[in-house]
Amino acid sequence: MFDFTTVEQNLKQRGYEVKVFETLEQAADYVDSAVDQTTVGIGGSGTVKASGLYDRLGTHNTVIWHWMQQPADEARREAMATDIYLASANALAETGEMVNIDGCGNRVASMLFGHRKIYYLIGRNKIVKTYEDAVWRARNVAGPRRAQQMNAKTPCAVNGDRCYDCKSPGRICRGMVTLMAPMSGMEAEVLLIDEDLGL
Ligand code: SF4
Repeated sequence: MFDFTTVEQNLKQRGYEVKVFETLEQAADYVDSAVDQTTVGIGGSGTVKASGLYDRLGTHNTVIWHWMQQPADEARREAMATDIYLASANALAETGEMVNIDGCGNRVASMLFGHRKIYYLIGRNKIVKTYEDAVWRARNVAGPRRAQQMNAKTPCAVNGDRCYDCKSPGRICRGMVTLMAPMSGMEAEVLLIDEDLGL
């Protein structure tokens, strides 16, 4: 199993609740049992998509996700007013800083304010040594992969190797947020999962 000891310890010291799971399915079972009869928003996330939580939570909650509902802009706005929010991270430093890049801003805004509780579902592949490594991963790994997935007209999508800090109209990286600790007034639980998940 991946050694989560250091990152788990540092996240707890920073004030996060932390749980470790062997599989995404086990993490999804946990969230499904913990979140009931409430409203749930979801940010763009391949990990959350793979978890099946949109359908599972939808059987006993009101779930809003712009990846599944139209018009997407309306769903983005509605998801920002939910009690619970689900997201992943573009990168997590072992020292505990979490880095996320966003194009529309709804996902990173929800990490900062507006919800009673946020759950982060994070695969082992997102964990790097330092904060600098986390910024590098978010910019040069997660960003280009997402641009390729979206068929963006950007140099990273064409070349698939790194971020070019492009000035393209189709640029998908427009804001980068570092969480140094859970935001005041919002519970935050990090679910560390021993699988490679998301981009
Ligand atoms: S800033 Fe541009 S080149 Fe860099 S990852 Fe984002 S879309 Fe790609």
